[in-house]
Amino acid sequence: MQSLNQDVLLSGGSNLGKPIAQCQQVIQYLQQQAAVRLVAISSLYLTEPVSPVEQGWFYNFALKLKTDLSPFDFLMLCQDIEKQFDRKRAEKWGPRSMDLDIIYYGSQIIESEDLVIPHQHLAERKFVLIPLAEIAPEFIDPQRNKSISKILRQTSDRHAVLLYEKKWFETQAVVSL
Ligand code: AMP
Repeated sequence: MQSLNQDVLLSGGSNLGKPIAQCQQVIQYLQQQAAVRLVAISSLYLTEPVSPVEQGWFYNFALKLKTDLSPFDFLMLCQDIEKQFDRKRAEKWGPRSMDLDIIYYGSQIIESEDLVIPHQHLAERKFVLIPLAEIAPEFIDPQRNKSISKILRQTSDRHAVLLYEKKWFETQAVVSL
């Protein structure tokens, strides 16, 4: 069996098209990748948009997985998935069919033009922190030297994040991409 050594924490969300089905499709697609093994799937959350642009609420989730892809290859995989959902990038803060963000890649710190890990906005986004804290509360942020649950306790973000469904992946029918 392939050794998938790197731990990745991923955040996903959608508020355009069929958001719940699209979130399920992402998981199904990742499960089919030989270079990825899913370890944990958070509940699905309904979240108030953090944006100056008027738009519908998001469905958000977090994933813990193992991979042997490099951080940049993993970013390409995420962008490839986003493209499969025909995400329009025209409006920076606008609605999206699928947004995938790499929040942590093990304890690596990466600050390049295309990739910043830990994700630069994670501490101000409860829609990222709440699903992450559900599946990896004790994970230590390598820049802040604090656990995810502590970062969540200290965030000043007051946008609403509502638990939508705990068993949303197993119980819902999955439509292929
Ligand atoms: P957004 O529209 O907010 O999803 O931003 C997408 C852009 O963020 C892409 O061009 C990525 O290259 C860049 N980016 C930087 N760091 C990350 C990260 N940790 N995860 C995903 N995308 C990232």
